Amino acid sequence: MMYRLNGGVLEDTFKHFRACGCGRRECQVLWLSSWDSPEHITRVVHPRHKAHLGGFVLDDQWLSYFWLELGNTNTGIRVQVHTHPGEAFHSPTDDEFPIIHKPGFLSLVIPNFGLGPVGFGQAFLTEIQPDGQWQEVAISSRLVLA
Ligand SMILES: [Zn+2]
Repeated sequence: MMYRLNGGVLEDTFKHFRACGCGRRECQVLWLSSWDSPEHITRVVHPRHKAHLGGFVLDDQWLSYFWLELGNTNTGIRVQVHTHPGEAFHSPTDDEFPIIHKPGFLSLVIPNFGLGPVGFGQAFLTEIQPDGQWQEVAISSRLVLA
C-alpha cells in the first residue's frame, strides 16, 4: 500500500523526537489512519514510554487504553517510527517486537535521534512480509507526502 502523509505529519514526528529524545534517548511515534481511508495518514501519536540511549519500552497501561481508543475511533496503526542514536536500520529487537505483527506493517527508523533535517534523508523503511519476515523497502514505494 502507498500511504499518503497529511501535511504536518512529518514535522510533528520530528518535533516529538527532538522534544522527548533531546538528542540523548530513543523515541517512537505511531502513524495512524482511519479504516475508512487507510492509505491516508492523518494522525501522529507519541506513546507514553521509557527510553534510554539504545532503546525504549512502551507503557503497558497506556497501550491498553490506546487499543480501546483505536477501536472506538475506527483507527489503525499503519507505521511505527522510531529514532536511533546513529545510523538508521532495524535491530534484532526492532525485528522481534513490532507493535503490530501483520504483513504490510511498516517500520521507519530515523537516524541521529531525529536531529537532522525533517525528511526521509538517511532513514530506513522495512515491511513485514506475508511470511512474517521483515524486508527493507524503498521509502518512495510506500510513503508519499500529500
Ligand atoms: Zn518519546
